[in-house]
Amino acid sequence: MVNSFWPMTLSEALDIRKNHNVMIFNGGSDLMVKYRCWSGISVDLPKDILYIGHLNELKSIDINPSEIIIGAAVSYAQFLKDSRLPIEFKHPIEQIGSVAIRNIGTLVGNICNASPAGDTLPMLYALDAKVVIMSTKGQRIVEISDFITGPGSTQLNHDEIVTRIIIPRKTYDRTFYRKVGTRKANAISKVSVFSVADIKESRIDDIRICIGSCGPTVIRVKKIESSIIDLRLSELTLDIDRFLRMYDEKIVPIDDVRSTKIYRSKVACNLIKTFLTKEVIL
Ligand SMILES: Cc1cc2nc3c(=O)[nH]c(=O)nc-3n(C[C@H](O)[C@H](O)[C@H](O)COP(=O)(O)OP(=O)(O)OC[C@H]3O[C@@H](n4cnc5c(N)ncnc54)[C@H](O)[C@@H]3O)c2cc1C
Repeated sequence: MVNSFWPMTLSEALDIRKNHNVMIFNGGSDLMVKYRCWSGISVDLPKDILYIGHLNELKSIDINPSEIIIGAAVSYAQFLKDSRLPIEFKHPIEQIGSVAIRNIGTLVGNICNASPAGDTLPMLYALDAKVVIMSTKGQRIVEISDFITGPGSTQLNHDEIVTRIIIPRKTYDRTFYRKVGTRKANAISKVSVFSVADIKESRIDDIRICIGSCGPTVIRVKKIESSIIDLRLSELTLDIDRFLRMYDEKIVPIDDVRSTKIYRSKVACNLIKTFLTKEVIL
């Protein structure tokens, strides 16, 4: 039997987090599966839970000239409905789960779950998202790539709650997203790629390529991106195979129930090639 806490404010939630050994329950779509109990209807939760998904302070999406700020309890459905958000950022979200999952699941839950197959992660890594973390002692902000430390692990301390995600605002000439799964809905990614690029006068001004489900965390190789930046499109055309070989060396997937490492490597490289040839070079 576990206890549950239903705070009325974020400040109350932070106090509970500090004074009790609790597990944070946001939409619950990962937790309800992780702790399911086949023999009964109730889940078998290992410790007391702190509900936060109802807190109004965590439910807003704020946009200012330099940032998009997404509250921890913003569901996928709310994100998709918000007409102020760029359509390109919605492509990964509209392929997550099913309508029911998108109604309860949150971007922050996806980050904190830190699955290598988390479908918001390649996009959030590509956009240089930051994670806002609060405790009763104050607030700290960390890069998403530092926040996630491995499969299922983050640098969150036992007294902290993630309250927001910050996405720096920038427009991109080219965006690309592909998810490869077994079905169209309710499928965990075998491979996914989210990429953006900015082209100025036939030169690559910015490029970011992020690969999901092919390593312990999202793969983003800034060294390869730097060697592509400043190339003319004609130079990139000549060098594509070299860059694909560089990515191939960095993509280190595993065999598991969903796919094989050979399939994942091949498909990831093919998707990067599609992005470079069909979106960047045209
Ligand atoms: C049928 C089904 C289909 C799915 N399909 C997909 C899919 O296509 N792609 C995909 O990526 N995922 C999928 N998921 C997984 C899940 O829906 C997502 O990861 C979702 O984003 C989790 O959000 P949540 O709010 O429900 O998280 P929760 O289950 O509430 O929490 C997940 C983890 O994050 C922690 N946490 C949550 N919020 C915070 C916070 N504010 N601060 C600190 N820790 C926090 C929790 O303690 C827990 O460890 C699917 C799940 C199901 C059941």
